[in-house]
Amino acid sequence: MTERFRASRHDWQAYEGSGMTSLRTRKRMVERLVSQGINDNDVLEAMTHIPRHLFLDQALAHKAYEDVSLPIGHAQTLSQPYIVARMTELLMGGQRIDKVLEIGTGSGYQTSVISALFPMVYTVERIASLQKQARARHNDLSLLNILYRITDGGFGWPSAGPYDAIICTCAPDEIPQDLINQLSEGGRLVIPVGDQTKQDLWLVEKTSTGVRKTLVEPAFFVPLKSGVVRAVEY
Ligand code: SAH
Repeated sequence: MTERFRASRHDWQAYEGSGMTSLRTRKRMVERLVSQGINDNDVLEAMTHIPRHLFLDQALAHKAYEDVSLPIGHAQTLSQPYIVARMTELLMGGQRIDKVLEIGTGSGYQTSVISALFPMVYTVERIASLQKQARARHNDLSLLNILYRITDGGFGWPSAGPYDAIICTCAPDEIPQDLINQLSEGGRLVIPVGDQTKQDLWLVEKTSTGVRKTLVEPAFFVPLKSGVVRAVEY
């Protein structure tokens, strides 16, 4: 194992499981990721161990390791494993990164992948009940390097910035300037942009002289919405 992943020091052995939610099934998912072009070993290692099925409703757990996006309630979705891996890989760009901001906690699965790879994760969500559930899952897995906030992530989390990397898991029409402002020099923003008919994934790098934008590939994410939904269901 490499330095980055060892830093998380988790006892993933407890999640070997059996059948459709077993370590063997996760390994098959990871083999598929490799065949789809994912080659960062730390990302592959993290996704081998993190029990993705625990971020879904029990009724959907058997589908957790298929290459599909899945509903997580409130008309939101957990992205397919490929896009989670791809975005995480892009976020690192092969470098050591300390502080990451995630827009759209959702189920908390993407958060957990980042949390296994980087020392400090900040995650924001506009739907309070989703984040509450994600937080409980992270707690159960002893992922302790995550800070949470209910806010409209289109404005980022300015008081905790700047960030070495920002990952946005919902799609705005345009790249929010606030997110670019909260990147440190050399920082990277990975973000889908567009509407529900046409969207692309972009990598935005902040350099000493400005901003470099690279088009990565087509994407399909739920929209970034404004405002917050505070009502928590018990
Ligand atoms: N990363 C998540 C993906 C969830 S889908 C996962 O692994 O499950 C995208 C999430 O973005 C949804 O939970 C949605 O509520 C949230 N979202 C949409 N607009 C937002 C905004 N302006 N600020 C914060 N979160 C937002």
